[in-house]
Order: sequence, then C-alpha cells, then structure tokens
Amino acid sequence: MTSLPVIPVDPDAPGRRPAMPPRHLADLDLPGRRALVTELGEPAFRARQISHHYFGRLVRDPAEMTDLPAASRDRLAGALLPRLLTPVRELACDDGATRKALWRLHDGSLVESVLMGYPDRVTVCISSQAGCGMACPFCATGQAGLTRNLSAAEIVDQAVYLAGVAASGAVAGSPPRLSHVVFMGMGEPLANYSRVVTAIRRLVAPAPEGLGLSQRHITVSTVGLVPAIRRLASEDLSVTLALSLHAPDDELRDELVPVNQRWKVAEVLDAAWDYAATTGRRVSIEYAMIKDVNDQPWRADLLGRLLAGRSAHVNLIPLNPTPGSRWDASSKPVEREFVRRLRESGVSTTVRDTRGREIDGACGQLAAAGDSDSEAARGARPGVAVRDQET
Ligand code: SAH
Repeated sequence: MTSLPVIPVDPDAPGRRPAMPPRHLADLDLPGRRALVTELGEPAFRARQISHHYFGRLVRDPAEMTDLPAASRDRLAGALLPRLLTPVRELACDDGATRKALWRLHDGSLVESVLMGYPDRVTVCISSQAGCGMACPFCATGQAGLTRNLSAAEIVDQAVYLAGVAASGAVAGSPPRLSHVVFMGMGEPLANYSRVVTAIRRLVAPAPEGLGLSQRHITVSTVGLVPAIRRLASEDLSVTLALSLHAPDDELRDELVPVNQRWKVAEVLDAAWDYAATTGRRVSIEYAMIKDVNDQPWRADLLGRLLAGRSAHVNLIPLNPTPGSRWDASSKPVEREFVRRLRESGVSTTVRDTRGREIDGACGQLAAAGDSDSEAARGARPGVAVRDQET
C-alpha cells in the first residue's frame, strides 16, 4: 500500500473560490439578525418573530409565516431565508425509524443527512462539508475528495429540516422532539472549524435564537486534527468529542486515517484526554471493524492498554463496505472477541447499530451515488468508482 496524501486542501485558501451560499438567518446570532432587519427598514422585533418561526416552530418556508405583512415577509425572506437545501431524495427504512435525506446545495453540490428515531430520543446525523479531504480509504465520502465547506446555516438547516420531520410525527415510536445531533455525515467538521462552531452555537442557543439542544447531546466526530481539538476544548462549549481512531498503532493508522501521518496516535490521544479533562466529557473512540485489517486480538489488547483508566468509551462500527472496496466487516465472533478483550482491559465498549444500510445510509454512500436514476434510487448499492489505493 502506498501512502496517501496527508494534509487536505483548504477550500478557503486564497486562489480557490468556493461558491458559498447566500447569508441566512442561521448564520447570525440574534443581535446580528436584529441589526440586519433594522438595516432593511423593518422594526427590530421582526428578528425575533422570524427566528421564532424558524427555530421555534421549525417553519422554513416564508410563505407559512402568515403573521408577517406580505411586503415585510418578502423583504425579510429575501435577506434572511434563502433556500439553502433542495431535497433531491428522501428514503426511509427500519420501519420508518431511519430517514435519509439527500440535498442539492445552491451550487449543485450534494450532501446528505440522516434522521434516526429511538424509543427515548431522536438523533440527526449531519454533514459539515460537501465531500471530504481526509481521504480515509474505507469511507465513501473520502473517495470523492472535498468540494467545499458548508456555511453554518447549511449545517443548521439540515437539523432544522429534520427536526420538523420528527415534529410532524413521521418517526413512529420516537419522541417528536429532536434531541441529539451528531456531526458524522459528510466532511471533517474540524476542518470547517469556525462554521461548525457557529452551527453548534445555533443548535444549543435557546429558541428563538437557536434550536435549544443540550450541549451534551451534540457530538463532533473527527479524524483527529490535533490543534482544532485543542481549540475546541477552549471554547465555552462542552460537546461530546468522537475520535475516529480505527487503529491503535501508527503503522496501520497512517493508512486507514491518512491524517495520522501528521498527528500520531499518541499525540491525538493526548489531545483527546486533555479535551476530556477540560470539558468533563468522556471521549468516544470510533473504531470501524475491518476484517483481517484492524480486528486482531493483539490490536484489541493494545487499544485496551492505550485507553485503560482514561475517560473514554469505545464505539465499534461494523465496516459498511463501500462499493468496489476490497475490505469487509469483521465476522461476529471476531467482533465479540474484540469487545471481550477491551472490556477485560476495563474499557467501556459498545457496538454501534447499523441503521440505514439498505438505503446506503452510512457514510456518504447516498451522495456518492448522486441523484441520477441509478440503482441507488431504488435502494440498491450505488455503482460508484472507487479510487484504487494500490496505485
Ligand atoms: N470526518 C469525521 C466524520 C466522519 S463520519 C470523522 O472522520 O470522524 C463518522 C464515522 O464513520 C467516522 O468514524 C468514520 O471513520 C466512520 N466511517 C466512514 N466510513 C465508514 C464505513 N464505510 N464503515 C464504517 N464506518 C465508517
């Protein structure tokens, strides 16, 4: 296996001109919205009114904001409620408890989000970038590379839209109120740092400024961009950090998570423990179980030694093979042995459920399939080309 590109392209770097979307009210805090509304010649209280519709009632369509005089509504909608996400496809599975949405953004980029209902909570998994520059070879999003960062509002609007779907009672057997948000859709959230932090602030601010979610119920998943983890620890936020480790040794992690060539296992774990100490939040260690690649008993023992006594919880994710991939998920007996060894080391461990697989629900597969009338549209595996890592 040859080594992969290490450091991602920065889409915001001078010389590149990403087509960012128009400003939206979710990009601004309430004082910012007030200032803009006043600039438009409207009374300042309209900022609160329109925010209440969007974050409080989960109404995204200005036409439904009928308590606003028509002229004001048009002015405010034009400046604060541009359409950011156009649904391309929505799919449901697991008896309606999992719903996947594929969106087209204003520049034609495709991103996806997933709504997952459980008896006690409703979670949405959202995207932070169109594509991803981290090049993890087992991840569908990583195969296509990075198109651009999402704006804060493009990130928030995914959650607001799906919170509205949940509120309509569409997820049978679950509470109607969105409670959890995970940044585990497309993209590397910490590579789009400031917009992701802005989006988190909107998600946790009480309505009508934001969605009023609990910080503890927000999870940011990262490949392990060490400086950004440290910076996140210094924000006045205590969201849950998930670290995509996938291997306990540098030799294998250099391959599975190429950014490891820059920040090694020891260094990224150090940053994770500091994050846990600063925020008081246990770190979630993500580990995709890949048959005969990272699932050996000795790796379970090594992982156990690295994590024992730390404020960590391991989430094993059965690999969801990407189309054309030469890798497969570990067998159940191997997975059970891995769990047993970790627990024996005193490390709390669970295996993630595999929601949405039959609708390409995991890890960028729907967007990779595009919106053509492909097999993916009928729920089968998309036929995308996967870059050959051997060359
Ligand atoms: N860029 C962030 C978010 C990515 S998606 C990160 O890497 O953490 C969330 C999780 O799904 C990550 O742990 C990622 O490594 C994992 N993942 C990606 N593709 C997968 C696949 N095909 N099967 C199982 N897990 C996968």
